[in-house]
Amino acid sequence: MNRYDLHTHTKCSDGSLSVTQLIDLAIDRGVTHLAITDHDTVNAHIQLAQMNGGYKEDQINIIKGIEISSQWNNMGIHIVGLNIDIDSVAIKNVVAHQTQLRLQRVKTIAKKLTHRGFPDITEGAMRLAGDSQIGRPHIAQYMVEQGMVSSVAQAFTKYLGTGKVGDVSSIWPDLEQVVKWINEAGGVAVLAHPSRYKMTRTKGRRLMADFCDAGGQAIEVCAGNQVPGVAEAMATICNEFNFHASVGSDFHNPDYKWVRLGQYPKLPKTCIPVWELF
Ligand code: AMP
Ligand code: MN
Ligand code: MN
Ligand code: MN
Repeated sequence: MNRYDLHTHTKCSDGSLSVTQLIDLAIDRGVTHLAITDHDTVNAHIQLAQMNGGYKEDQINIIKGIEISSQWNNMGIHIVGLNIDIDSVAIKNVVAHQTQLRLQRVKTIAKKLTHRGFPDITEGAMRLAGDSQIGRPHIAQYMVEQGMVSSVAQAFTKYLGTGKVGDVSSIWPDLEQVVKWINEAGGVAVLAHPSRYKMTRTKGRRLMADFCDAGGQAIEVCAGNQVPGVAEAMATICNEFNFHASVGSDFHNPDYKWVRLGQYPKLPKTCIPVWELF
């Protein structure tokens, strides 16, 4: 039996496992098809390519992916690219572009947090990120380390989450541009975790319509830690816009007990799976 997980992270962005640890865990969980989709980097795939062409390839199929930050109506929206050519000009360009934006964004957030009495955020977050693609989780970890907040969750609720001072999403490229890059890289553009965006029904439908017009082909119908009923609602949207359906846990860290690698609600029967496009 095939078991897919098409949305996962490693240490190359804000996950906690190395690429080989992630693959070992996936094999352990019975995952047969794993997409590694780090935020704005394909370093995990570059590392795999350097290991004599792969790691345990006889035991698992690795799908090349990425999760790209975009903006739509001033909101940060994540687009997963699946089955991309990591050597394409489009991917090389988008990674370089987003890496610059992420460094710039840390400095912008740091400046805002300095005014709130939290110094040295840039240096601290960069130290914790090391070689990883830097993001808000590294800022959150630094704030915990320095006793500025009591937990990563609190850093997000008070300072970094949607609508808070450190939520700087206006820097990202437009959703339309991001979908174009993914398509140029030969990939399938997937709207990530649609139910996580706090928006009205009407706005949600406009997002779906714009994503479809831009060339988006699939949405995540089943995500990790998703409440009951969402998959069915997303299946209806697939039907309406002719989207294929993707499934993925959005796994980051084995200590986050609410998300298990390879686990998500059952895909509704009416859905056409995204892997039919690979
Ligand atoms: P960034 O990529 O820098 O915009 O940061 C977004 C990432 O932060 C997400 O992919 C999650 O991994 C993490 N994140 C978002 N919200 C929270 C939260 N409330 N608590 C912990 N981590 C979060
Ligand atoms: Mn993340
Ligand atoms: Mn995401
Ligand atoms: Mn993710």
